[in-house]
Amino acid sequence: MKNEGIEGTERFLSPDKGRGLRALRDFAVGELVFACPAYSYVLTVNERGAHCEHCFTRREDLFKCGKCKQAYYCNVDCQRGDWPMHKLECVAMCTHGENWCPSETVRLVSRIIMKQRVTTERTPSERLLLLKEFESHLDKMDSEKDEMNQADIAALHYFYSKHISDLPDDQELTELFAQVNCNGFTIEDEELSHLGSAVFPDVALMNHSCSPNVIVTYKGTVAEVRAVQEINPGEEIFNSYIDLLYPTEDRKERLLDSYFFGCQCTECTTKSKDKAKMEIRKLSSPPEPEEIKSMVHYAKNVIEEFRKAKHYKTPSELLEMCELSLEKMGAIFADTNVYMLHMMYQAMGVCLYMQDWDGAMSYGEKIVYPYSVHYPPYSLNVASMYLKLGRLYLGLEKKTQGVKALKKALAIMEIAHGKDHHYVAEVKREIEEQK
Ligand SMILES: [Zn+2]
Ligand SMILES: [Zn+2]
Ligand SMILES: [Zn+2]
Repeated sequence: MKNEGIEGTERFLSPDKGRGLRALRDFAVGELVFACPAYSYVLTVNERGAHCEHCFTRREDLFKCGKCKQAYYCNVDCQRGDWPMHKLECVAMCTHGENWCPSETVRLVSRIIMKQRVTTERTPSERLLLLKEFESHLDKMDSEKDEMNQADIAALHYFYSKHISDLPDDQELTELFAQVNCNGFTIEDEELSHLGSAVFPDVALMNHSCSPNVIVTYKGTVAEVRAVQEINPGEEIFNSYIDLLYPTEDRKERLLDSYFFGCQCTECTTKSKDKAKMEIRKLSSPPEPEEIKSMVHYAKNVIEEFRKAKHYKTPSELLEMCELSLEKMGAIFADTNVYMLHMMYQAMGVCLYMQDWDGAMSYGEKIVYPYSVHYPPYSLNVASMYLKLGRLYLGLEKKTQGVKALKKALAIMEIAHGKDHHYVAEVKREIEEQK
């Protein structure tokens, strides 16, 4: 393929940020800036059977691979198309049985290595940035990250060496894993459920801002980048790498830890939303600054503890953890405080898992409005919350509230996903069915 770039944009050197993407013309809110097919991708294990391994289509009539009985496809074409990648796992899954457990990153990296072997030219995913050009930030890795990296390399050898002849040496693999960790994407559905992992080199070219002017959504395994703010010629195009719910200090910490840079975007400089995000409960005697500080400390610990507990605690234990922390934080934090919202969101997730629809609904109702205040005007987090809530209402026969919430979701999705996206068509149909 000849390198023809991406129409209306150019790669450039951004002051202090290194390479980036810049607009050469106007982009209106909701306009598609570009689409990028995945260079490599992998469906997450939990979604097997619900989505096609090859094209990520969600449907109920998939058929399974006759050998491993673990991978599911739309039809023979999808199965054939996927075989060059699925063959890395098909026999191995049969041989190892329950003990087959490479991480999703390992699965993705094995596919990247295979793809690199069969591609000699620039791919359609690399019109402006080659995968080989990804930053690895190897010099900034701490021992914890280094250990994880080494464990991934060991797993790659263990699960894949039979099916990939002469794997690259350890130094090359260390670099590749570090590159994928800094530049990889997770693919999510319209409710932000995790579907898989992928690399989209051209999408990775965009620098980060906490007030991004584009949003990335997915159509199958293709990433689509749409403007969510008016973009003028000459302006840099910014994506967000992180969840924007949290206050400036937390965002900066996260960006430094995962992407190794200090954010200096307008939001990080003005901190205009921090006060509302850290709202304190109105009390007759306001808490001392020390009390607030120690509660923030508690909140961050509980968030981390909960993240770990998800792997081994039962749903009811998890729900109790949420309720206890909400009670404790609620003595000082307002219900709109982002740490309260974080735990309510987790509690809602557990309720949905337990099919406690009323519980999920009441958490959703508390979350959705503050979300729309804390997040930027067009946000997938806000859209997915309205969507979940709307679908809950309809399931509970609350027709008017349901339609109202779905319409709110739709208004954001028409901009972020585009009017012709199948998710948008689906939500429209759900609204239509209520008439
Ligand atoms: Zn398919
Ligand atoms: Zn198979
Ligand atoms: Zn920022």
